[in-house]
Amino acid sequence: MTVSRWLLETGRQTPRSVRQFLSGLYRELELDAMLAPGYKKQTVLPTVYESPDLLGSVDPFAPIMMVNSARLVADRLQAHPGKRFAAVLRACEIRALGAIVGNRAIALDNFTLIGVDCLGTFTEEEFKWRGGSEKLTREVLRFARQGGVAMYRYRPACQMCRDPIPSGADLTIDILGLPAQTRVIISVHSPHLQNTLDIAPLVTGQAPEALVVQHDQMRECIQERRNRAFERITQALETDLVMTVDGLIDHLSDCETCQACLNVCPIYSTGQVKESLNRKTVIDWLLSCAGCGMCEQSCHDHLPLAAIFRYIQSELEAALRESPAAT
Ligand code: SF4
Ligand code: SF4
Ligand code: SF4
Repeated sequence: MTVSRWLLETGRQTPRSVRQFLSGLYRELELDAMLAPGYKKQTVLPTVYESPDLLGSVDPFAPIMMVNSARLVADRLQAHPGKRFAAVLRACEIRALGAIVGNRAIALDNFTLIGVDCLGTFTEEEFKWRGGSEKLTREVLRFARQGGVAMYRYRPACQMCRDPIPSGADLTIDILGLPAQTRVIISVHSPHLQNTLDIAPLVTGQAPEALVVQHDQMRECIQERRNRAFERITQALETDLVMTVDGLIDHLSDCETCQACLNVCPIYSTGQVKESLNRKTVIDWLLSCAGCGMCEQSCHDHLPLAAIFRYIQSELEAALRESPAAT
């Protein structure tokens, strides 16, 4: 599938330029609403904006993720079928949304999925300690060209993210591998948008091929780095008992009344109680795990759930490759 690539010159004001781009897109697509990460007091939360003039608090690159927005997006799509709706999501949110849409058979008419490259996210404490504002975003954008900075400070899920560049979006805002303080690429993936969206007034011009290549090369490089981080993190794990499906079920069943990790997971069905955990449910859940790490972020026992889930997932995938009936 061909992708059309556009350059957006940002004049060292990338968050502001991207907001302006999103406002323009909102108008061009005649949206009823757009969900995007926006500042609320000292943090950033997924927010539904009902006018292009209200996007002033949006920051798609803020290095924090308090909630995986996939479930909010899915709920809104079901509650307002046919409305013109767009959502600005990171790669792990898009992976989760794909799983939910499949499970619930949600119709995607009039929905525009906008993906953003993710540099990684801090814990809430670290985000606040670092100032927690658009200034911090501008700071981390300086390191987009080399694929991010201070990886060890990011949440463990981000350190080993299987792919921080979104797949399956209609349109993406690409920053990894690029001098993102001054230039980003807008990629239009959906044939429908390519045919209907008049994007020229919203961008600077066509993207230079050299920048496109830089972005694609960075994807491979980052995946390699994050896979190495995953190996390093799993080697250091001292939770052998929880590293199998059955071990995990036993562990979760022993967690008394806590269901925090299940409740925050965008994929695990809300309303499903812990007692109903059975092997098939857990295997299906882990196979579609998006790797966002929200479960780990919520665990008061500080269990390294992101690494555990990814480890079991990779074991299950390997078993499935060997023999589809193995799990
Ligand atoms: S898991 Fe990946 S996509 Fe999600 S916030 Fe972390 S780096 Fe970004
Ligand atoms: S299990 Fe954890 S990492 Fe996987 S999708 Fe759910 S919250 Fe995210
Ligand atoms: S969040 Fe932690 S303590 Fe709570 S159920 Fe999950 S693993 Fe157990």
